[in-house]
Amino acid sequence: MMGPSHALSGAAVWLAGSWGLNYFAGYEQSPLAIAVGTAVCAGGALFPDLDMSGKVTRNQGGATVARTFGVVSLFFAEVMEKISLGVYHATKLSKDPHRNNGHRTLTHTLPFTALVGWGTTALCTAYGKWAVIGILFFMIGLALRGLFDEWAKRAGWVIVTLVSAAAAYFTFLHLPGDRGYPMLGVAVGVGCFVHIMGDIITSNGVPILWPVPIKRRMWMMIGIPNKIAVKVGGKVETVVLRGAFTVISILSALGLLAPSVLRRFDIEV
Ligand SMILES: [Zn+2]
Repeated sequence: MMGPSHALSGAAVWLAGSWGLNYFAGYEQSPLAIAVGTAVCAGGALFPDLDMSGKVTRNQGGATVARTFGVVSLFFAEVMEKISLGVYHATKLSKDPHRNNGHRTLTHTLPFTALVGWGTTALCTAYGKWAVIGILFFMIGLALRGLFDEWAKRAGWVIVTLVSAAAAYFTFLHLPGDRGYPMLGVAVGVGCFVHIMGDIITSNGVPILWPVPIKRRMWMMIGIPNKIAVKVGGKVETVVLRGAFTVISILSALGLLAPSVLRRFDIEV
């Protein structure tokens, strides 16, 4: 799937999950917590594609998401791609094909998803609000790039960086202190997982079983059969799926906000 679809799917899953937790388990979150979780999950749903390197020195190429913070994120993507390729070569078995590029390898696996989620929580636990502001800045940038791709393209990376910084700072001012922020790690992890699921329904598939060897292959690409696979950038993705993600997001957000709005106007529910 393309960036905007990944980001939308992350937002939809987080909002629907928050609604479900609230409705079925009575787990309430403040509007700010919901907004932060949604943005971080949308950003997390783009994170695995930060493994597409471009030409850093010429400031070209890379996935759209790699251009979020200009040449800095392009460089980050280059490093991620090389690390992924290194891990691929270090763990490949005799039947795994040779690769020149690490895209859709390490960052599209379950251990990576778990590591990123755990790492985020560990950073927040160790450094508190200072880690939170950094993570928010990064993830909000990715989310903006994905959710408002046309705007982000027109605005350019400097504006995207400034808006992300402002949003992260605003959140920072309003976050309660003296506590861990395990929700952020969950949001990043869920985002990465949703990304992998999004790629699984396209024809290329992802190495979801890594590091479990199958038939002398460690990096078996798992996807649904070509006949029913979603074509990247096709009508099913850009109209049907994005439409569905948008509707789910809006309904869940309404469901989450409605009770507090009604309560404010003293309407009994
Ligand atoms: Zn991907």
